[in-house]
Amino acid sequence: MRLKNKVCIITGAAQGIGLATALKFAQEGATVVVCDRRAEGVDAAVAACEAAGASAMGRVLDVTDRVSVDLMTAAVLEQYGRIDVLVNNAGITKDARLQKMSLEQFDAVIDVNLRGVFHCAQAVADTMVAQGGGVILNASSVVGIYGNFGQTNYAASKFGVIGFTKTWSRELGPKGVRVNAVAPGFIETPILGTIPDKVMDEMRAHVPLKRLGKPEEIANVYAFLASDEASYVNGAVLEVSGGMTV
Ligand code: NAD
Repeated sequence: MRLKNKVCIITGAAQGIGLATALKFAQEGATVVVCDRRAEGVDAAVAACEAAGASAMGRVLDVTDRVSVDLMTAAVLEQYGRIDVLVNNAGITKDARLQKMSLEQFDAVIDVNLRGVFHCAQAVADTMVAQGGGVILNASSVVGIYGNFGQTNYAASKFGVIGFTKTWSRELGPKGVRVNAVAPGFIETPILGTIPDKVMDEMRAHVPLKRLGKPEEIANVYAFLASDEASYVNGAVLEVSGGMTV
């Protein structure tokens, strides 16, 4: 129960890594706030957290909509009185090579993966500072360290998230707020749905562990970073990729 009584907001928690993180946090004793733009997924995730014995709240919101984000944090404060952890997990891809990428593809990914992370962090920062503590965890990617073919927009957003992490760890660290990023390798979730089987096989072959990761294997890392066990981890980018970039 490493997260007992901690109020934890997780964005993009209706499926994939976000859902696994919500469930892991619930099992660790957290009060879980499930946020996603998909209403049906939010209800199911809240039910799953409650089935694990946790108190849980669901909010249907788009992280690109600042008003919705502010309404969510206000509702969390009204109901629970504090915010201990934010996991900025919501993210999307819209892949194309540089010469083919439309402005719509570029803007959509930057809006969710970068502006959305900024919105949510700014919405919780004052509360965490006033409390004298908190944790912000940001979803980067190995693509945000090494780049990737066909992912100009996504790579820029995930590099940007590392910039946020290092900047906020300097700004908020002195106030007791830790900020870290996780850079997953390739994890088996719906976000990989558009990748052809042949490319998936090549990706697997590249990983020293010879398999893709599971959402739970990222959730376990978020749980550690959110907990007091990570009390001296700040400004870090933790790569969780089965060693694919070694
Ligand atoms: P996923 O597509 O399975 O789930 C993402 C969730 O975010 C969905 O439920 C979706 O509805 C929600 N979402 C998307 N846009 C949103 C918005 N504007 N507002 C609110 N919710 C929104 O993705 P995943 O694979 O679980 O990835 C989660 C995070 O981890 C993302 O930031 C992704 O970039 C990152 N990541 C994933 C992998 C991977 O291989 N799966 C690797 C590296 C990084």
